[in-house]
Amino acid sequence: MDRKQVNTVTPIDVEAVRRDFPVLERKIHGVPLVYLDNAATSQKPAAVIEAMNRFYRQENSNVHRGIHALSEESTADYEAARKKLAKFIHAKSRREIVFTRNATESINLVAYSWGLDNLHPGDEVLITEMEHHANIVPWQQICRRTGATLRYVPITPQGYLDLSTLDNLLTEKTKLFAFTAMSNVFGTIPPVKMLVEKAHAVGALTLVDGAQAVSHMPVDVRALDCDFLAFSAHKMCGPTGIGALYGKAALLNKMSPFLTGGDMILSVWMDHATWNEIPHKFEAGTPAIAEAIGFGAAVDYLNSIGGMEAIHHYEQEMITAAMTALQDIEGLRMIGPPPADRGGLVSFVMDGLHPHDIAAVLDQDGIAVRAGYHCAQPLHDRLNIHATTRASFYFYNLPSEIDLLVQSLQRAQKLFGR
Ligand code: PLP
Repeated sequence: MDRKQVNTVTPIDVEAVRRDFPVLERKIHGVPLVYLDNAATSQKPAAVIEAMNRFYRQENSNVHRGIHALSEESTADYEAARKKLAKFIHAKSRREIVFTRNATESINLVAYSWGLDNLHPGDEVLITEMEHHANIVPWQQICRRTGATLRYVPITPQGYLDLSTLDNLLTEKTKLFAFTAMSNVFGTIPPVKMLVEKAHAVGALTLVDGAQAVSHMPVDVRALDCDFLAFSAHKMCGPTGIGALYGKAALLNKMSPFLTGGDMILSVWMDHATWNEIPHKFEAGTPAIAEAIGFGAAVDYLNSIGGMEAIHHYEQEMITAAMTALQDIEGLRMIGPPPADRGGLVSFVMDGLHPHDIAAVLDQDGIAVRAGYHCAQPLHDRLNIHATTRASFYFYNLPSEIDLLVQSLQRAQKLFGR
């Protein structure tokens, strides 16, 4: 994303923030939990759990409908959460934030709502080889249905986008360029602003998959000028079951609804209906109210511990330390770029050890990591690797947990006779 100088940020008090997360007190197989699976989902601070608890205990009621005190309170809290999200990513207005179930649904919303109306045979959608399945499969489906062609920006063996191909791939045929702001396998942070500019220069819209980026670094949609941004609450200390789509108001206004039913309509007759204004046009049925309030509480929490620059800065230190330590393990090979060009995660392979066996040994030592292809099968195919083990950090991880990771990996090598 926009890599600002972060030397002056106030450091995060990691020992203090750890006390905010009840689950970090847990023991797994008799030893303290070391949670290094943050790219899959983050842990939840008490403030988020309590915000949802408070909603159910004190004001549970449906939004936008009831003319009674509880409904008015729920509506106010639900809409206040939307406003917090808009501010968090620097959207112009809360109307540009649509609540969805997750980043996957946000991308599907654009694919179906914008894609079905705007893509035609001969048009092209450009994505990259480092996308999560969430930013591949919807475009495969929409291209199949509209006759548009799906193209990929290739990756280099070092885990970067091969930017030398962009001038050939981005043409007047390109209608949308959808790409991740941080790879969930390599950790690579591509030059988002430059990619948006290049897409706009040929008249294409841009969708940024912010599932990994919004949770780990400052994201400013106005500075980036992206047209859409998709992200999930659960990766940024919020609950599961809620995500968001940012879209420029002018685009959202023109788009057809994705799902239809109650709340998203203005009027309904026997034979047709008219649509509510944005963002409600895209929120059919009773939404995930408690989850939206939890999402807002997560944003408050991230701001309260020092904000996204401080979080990004700390994770840069952690990933640098982790990669330095891991490179001393014989037979371990990390994939992706050096720490300066990535976020706080690292995927690796080890000679003679299957990632599932590695993860199982680490689990015995209380360490949670991810093993597999991390919903990025085309990327692994491209690298000719079946699966990798991924350790992903957040602001509550301690440097001492890197030492535990290294010791446990060495134990795995011994166990399997390597
Ligand atoms: N995009 C990226 C880069 C991801 O890492 C993920 C989840 O891991 C997603 C999209 C999908 O997020 P969700 O499962 O919350 O919809």
